[in-house]
Formats: sequence, C-alpha cells, structure tokens
Amino acid sequence: MENFTESKNFIEDIINEELEKGVVNTVHTRFPPEPNGYLHIGHAKSLCLNFGTAKKYSGVCNLFFDDTNPSKEKTEYVDAIKEDIKWLGFEWFEMHYASDYFDVIYELAVKLIKDGKAYVCDLSAEEIKNTRGTLTEPGVESPYRKRSIEENLKLFEEMKNGVYKDGEKVLRAKIDMASPNINMRDPVIYRVLRATHHRTGDKWCIYPMYDYAHPICDSMQGVTHSLCTLEFEDHRPLYNWTIENTGVAHKPRQIEFARLNITNTVMSKRYLKKLVEDGAVEGWDDPRMPTLTGLRNRGVPAEALKNFCEEIGVSKANSEIEVSYFEHFIRDYLNKNAERAMAVENPLKVTITNYEGVEDTEFDVNPSDENSPKRSVVFGKTLYIEQDDFSLNPPPKYFRLKKDGYVRLKNAYIIKCDDVKLDDNGNPVELICSYIPESRSGNDTSGIKCKGTIHWVNASLAVDVELRKYEYLLNDAEYQGQDFNERMNYDSVHKFIGKAEPYIALSKDGTPFQLLRKGYYKKMVKGDKIVLSEIVSMKDSFKK
Ligand code: ATP
Ligand code: MG
Repeated sequence: MENFTESKNFIEDIINEELEKGVVNTVHTRFPPEPNGYLHIGHAKSLCLNFGTAKKYSGVCNLFFDDTNPSKEKTEYVDAIKEDIKWLGFEWFEMHYASDYFDVIYELAVKLIKDGKAYVCDLSAEEIKNTRGTLTEPGVESPYRKRSIEENLKLFEEMKNGVYKDGEKVLRAKIDMASPNINMRDPVIYRVLRATHHRTGDKWCIYPMYDYAHPICDSMQGVTHSLCTLEFEDHRPLYNWTIENTGVAHKPRQIEFARLNITNTVMSKRYLKKLVEDGAVEGWDDPRMPTLTGLRNRGVPAEALKNFCEEIGVSKANSEIEVSYFEHFIRDYLNKNAERAMAVENPLKVTITNYEGVEDTEFDVNPSDENSPKRSVVFGKTLYIEQDDFSLNPPPKYFRLKKDGYVRLKNAYIIKCDDVKLDDNGNPVELICSYIPESRSGNDTSGIKCKGTIHWVNASLAVDVELRKYEYLLNDAEYQGQDFNERMNYDSVHKFIGKAEPYIALSKDGTPFQLLRKGYYKKMVKGDKIVLSEIVSMKDSFKK
C-alpha cells in the first residue's frame, strides 16, 4: 500500500478519514457504464479514478454494466467497452450487469411494498410530472398513494406478469411529496416497458429505474465507494434511502466528482452516436472522435491518456480543460517513445548537379534518449523536399530554400538552388541545385552561414504515401453554447500526397513516428496504400 496520508484529491481525503476511523477497512469501487455507446475521454477519467483509487488502497474495482434501459443497450457496446478498458491496461476484479440482479431488485421492491414503502400508481408520466411540484412548492400526493399493501402486491405482480400496457402503471417509492429534494417526492422505481433486453431477452416487461437499481447493485457487489459525476449529487438522498429501506446488508457510500469537459470536444454518447449515424464521421473509431476507440485508432498512446487523467485530478467543481493540455501529454509521451523519420508532403524534386553516387548519413533513432542508437539514411543525387520549403517569392527572413539561396538538408549537406523548372502554370516542378562538399553535418568547414534546415527524402528510394491531417470536430470557444450542429467543423480531414523514407514503409502497421518538422504520425496500411495519419502536430500551443 502506498502512503495514503499524502492525498491530492478530495476522494482520497474522505477515504483516508474513513480508514482512520474504521468506517471502512477496504476499498471496492466499480466503473458503471451503460452499454448504450462507446466510451470517450470523459469515461477515461472515471476509469482512472475508479481503478486508480482501488489500486492505491490495495482494493479492487469491478466492471459493472448498468443495463436497466433495454431499448438503447447492445452487446456490441458491451464488447467495445471491455476492449477499451483492456487497452487502458485496467483489470477488473469481477464483471457484473444490473440485469444479473433483476430478481433481487424485484424481491426488494416487493419488500418495500410489504413495509408500506412503495405503491403502484396509475397516474401517467405526464400527470406524475405535473404533480411533482417545484423547487418552491411541494408536490401533490397521488390518489393511489393510500392503496393497501395487499392491493399493491397484487398489482405489482400483475405489472410483472404483463397485465398492463407500457406506461399504464408504475411502482413508486412512498417517501415525501413535500421534500425539498424533488427526487424524494415519491420517485418512480419500476416501469412497465416491453423491450427485448440484450441479455434477459423478453423475460421481463418491467424494469427498475436507475436511482433505485444502482444502490442495490453496488451493495450486492460489495462496493464501498460508489463514485459518480456531480449531476447525481441531488440523487444521493434517494441512493441512501434505497440502501436503508431495502435493508440490504452492505452499505456503500456515493461520492460525486466533476465531469471532465474538454474544449473543441463533444463528450456525450448521444451526440457521438448522432455523428456516427449521420455519417459525419467514418464510425465510432474515426481518428477525430474523442472515443477511446477513436483515440486508439488515431495512435494516441494509452499511457498519455492516463497521464493526462492523473494530472487533471478530481475536483468538486465542473470546468473545461483546454484540448491543447491533453495534446501536450500525447506529445510528451511520443517525444520520448516515437522513432524519428522523414517524409515530405507535396514533394518537390531536387536534382543536385554536382553530386554523384550515394552515401550514408546518420540519424538518431530518438534524440530524446541520450543513448539513442543511430540509423543511416541514404543521401543521393535526386531528392524530394516539401513544396512549402521552397519559395519563388520569399518574404523577408525566409530561411528555407529560394532561388540562389542556401539551406541545410538535415544531417547531410548545405545545398544552393541554382535554377528552377516551372510548369505551364508557373509552379516549380524541379529545383536544380548544387551541394557544398565541405558542409557535411558534423564536419562542416564550408564557412557558409545557413539559418534554415529542412528535411528531405531520397527520390530513388522513397515510397509513395498519403498524409492525413485532422482538425477538431468542433469549432472553437467563440461558438460555445451554440447548437452542436452549428459548431460542427465539416472540413476536418485533409489528405496530401507525399514521399517517405523506405524505413517507414518497412515498419510495422501502427508504428508511431515523429516525422521531422511535421509532427507525430501513425503508419497505417490501407489496401496497397501507406497512410501516415496525424496523431498530434509538432507545436505545443499549451501555456501553463
Ligand atoms: P454520456 O452522457 O456521455 O452518455 P454517461 O454518464 O451517461 O455519459 P455512463 O455510461 O453512464 O455515461 O458513464 C459511466 C461512468 O462514467 C459514470 O460513472 C459517469 O459518471 C462517468 N462519466 C461519463 N462521462 C464522464 C465525464 N465526462 N467525466 C467524468 N466521468 C464521466
Ligand atoms: Mg448515462
């Protein structure tokens, strides 16, 4: 066990105090997704918190599927969620479904009826809403509130047996229609709903409500700390009421924390699902999606995501984190772990008239590691540079290549542009250059002062690639509060032709590279095409 007196989040403070006072002697958490979509970065925060807290106190964390809403849930989502959690490297102790407990949950509802603490109500959803009262006015008691225990037992059983239509009757907890907390004004705890459940099929035509089912499931699993997001704070009295009044033996505690929100990012399964259904993205795993499967496909390392979640910590106040802060962690991780290589976007041919033959130049596989091995890159007479690294009409202080100007080719030689071949539209198609033999990197005696260094690839060895770059799916802060559709950035994928070193072509599918001067890219094989897909750009725009 780590030293837990040195806590940096309020949940740990609570647990430390409970451990000290002997209120608990172990920590058992659970991650409780509803299998109605794919997990996103927000869920990663909850995952890190639940699994991280359990680990910190040598406890355990369950995976708990909250599947009380059969119409929206699917086995496809269950499988995807498990996959995502494994990707993050978390191991659950036990896996359970709310549906595993449907019998117990039902029996406890019968017990509540027998104790006079629940009743069958015939009001419609609309009528229940209209009699619930407001923040300043109490609610109105249902005319069915005084039904006898016998009648309630009979009606509830009939609800279960399919005697009533969907919505015709509900079971309500009998609490207090005048409670200052609206959630306590005789909340519905069971509804009639004919929907095929992804696990129990058509066994049930009544389903428990989340607020009633969740505490029971927590208790059954032995959960000690039920961590959830702030919107459930007002539901905590009902959570506790359920625990107390069903009489379950084990009594978990609910603690709320702030949701993670990130700029330029949608963080709601409902919206993400809409994007997929509308075809605005290629699927849940589109590299622009903030889903875990999207991030994985993008090439974001699981470690980077976990470092980010660790660093932002947990708080009691909702806030929005800059997306650049998240990117900072991706870059930081890849800088240490991704090999360097060269690829050029929109290639421009360079012919070095005074160079013959071939020779090896030396590159660090990863210069952020002082013991980095070296790798050789073959230099030659014909090369490609990026169109953007040459200008026919250079602005002042242009340090890349221009006519009659000099530039250094990374880890090779200084070259001078002697002539430019143009196409019919006046665009450069080939640069006729000469190299300075005394300027070889590491042994430069040329005396030429050259401010720019650019990357290159050897034309006779280079392979064709497609480079893909991405923008955010959502436009910036200035659009905030606007409808999600208005904030959508519909032009967020950009594809470019390119040429890459053969080293990249030989690497394994999925390998991340730092493409020199460009950014971090993941190598992907798509049919007979090599795609270099942007993970994160080179520039760190995050200011602490
Ligand atoms: P969404 O609104 O995206 O559908 P949800 O809260 O309905 O999210 P669940 O499947 O119920 O999704 O979430 C599982 C767990 O993850 C819950 O404990 C939930 O509070 C937590 N969670 C979901 N979104 C976030 C977020 N943005 N930040 C932190 N925790 C989150
Ligand atoms: Mg939910």
